[in-house]
Amino acid sequence: MSDKSDYYEILGVSRDSGEDEIKKSYRKLALRYHPDKNPGNTEAEERFKEAAEAYEVLRDREKRRIYDLYGHEGLRGTGFTGFGGFEDIFSTFGDIFEDFFGLGGRRSRRTRTRTRRGNDLRYDLELTLEEAYRGKEEEIVFEKWESCDICSGTGITPGSEPAVCPTCHGRGESVHSQGFFQIRTTCSTCNGAGQVIVDPCRRCKSSGRIKAERRVLVKIPPGVDTGTQLRMEREGESGENGGPPGDLFVVIYVKEHEFFLRDGHDLKCQVTVSFVQAGLGDEVSIPVLDNNEERRITIPEGTQPGEIIRLKGKGMPILRRGRGYGDLFVQVAVKIPTRLSQRQRDLLMEFSELEKQKIGTKTKDFWDKIRGI
Ligand SMILES: [Zn+2]
Ligand SMILES: [Zn+2]
Repeated sequence: MSDKSDYYEILGVSRDSGEDEIKKSYRKLALRYHPDKNPGNTEAEERFKEAAEAYEVLRDREKRRIYDLYGHEGLRGTGFTGFGGFEDIFSTFGDIFEDFFGLGGRRSRRTRTRTRRGNDLRYDLELTLEEAYRGKEEEIVFEKWESCDICSGTGITPGSEPAVCPTCHGRGESVHSQGFFQIRTTCSTCNGAGQVIVDPCRRCKSSGRIKAERRVLVKIPPGVDTGTQLRMEREGESGENGGPPGDLFVVIYVKEHEFFLRDGHDLKCQVTVSFVQAGLGDEVSIPVLDNNEERRITIPEGTQPGEIIRLKGKGMPILRRGRGYGDLFVQVAVKIPTRLSQRQRDLLMEFSELEKQKIGTKTKDFWDKIRGI
């Protein structure tokens, strides 16, 4: 310990200098070597700590007396060991920096500027399949917390100033000495902010935030599906202490359609034709999603029940690619008549006779083949 520098030399004051001179000199050094001004500079850091230690001793009449008589050795007997780190120094000498760095030096500066990003918001939007197909613009209306328009989020009536917390004097924490230990707790009066509001904003009751109605125009691109999330940047709730606002997520829900079934980019549907239409071939119309017209589709001659007709590019728009479409699959159901007129019956009988002749030869071939095996 004997190789420690002399406290008077460190502060650059004479041995008989008064309290004010010592304080002035310390402040000058503390500001010059302040870690905020010298980031990463370890020499400045050492000087800053050294000066704080010297000042801690010389500002105290009893410690200074012991130091004057016995030097560094004498102080060891009092339990004085200097400072552990910056936080110690700031909480002990915070008031020294007041005029230069704002209240309480570095420590409370940090607590006061703690920003927080606003919450994200979710809005569920229900669309018809037609709307999902075409895309649309929709104005959505919702409530959200916003920065108070009267006090701009400060919680203080404009024009009035926050006062230094009377409990912690701006440090944001209270320090109690117990023997050689120091116990720190966050100041309960100001919750660590270091300042208190004297004239609270009446509109937001000093919370700095108000619930406001927001209208946002959402552009829904063609091709969205249930579960698609549209992110509206910075449309969420306001941040705190100047933090950025959150985002708004518009979550899409597409209602079921009475005719089309959606399968990713593809559409599926079913048409029912008579057995005559299936046999002879025909044209039928189905609805389309992009306007109120109908689409004619061809049922080829000899279509079987359950057969699927694929129409390329007639499905849903593909959202991610921004262009292109899925396919449309039309399943053909064949309806068998349940009641026939006499004339229809006669015609079918006649048709059947013709079929029998064909089937007859086929049957003979069939049995021949089986025998062959
Ligand atoms: Zn306080
Ligand atoms: Zn307000």
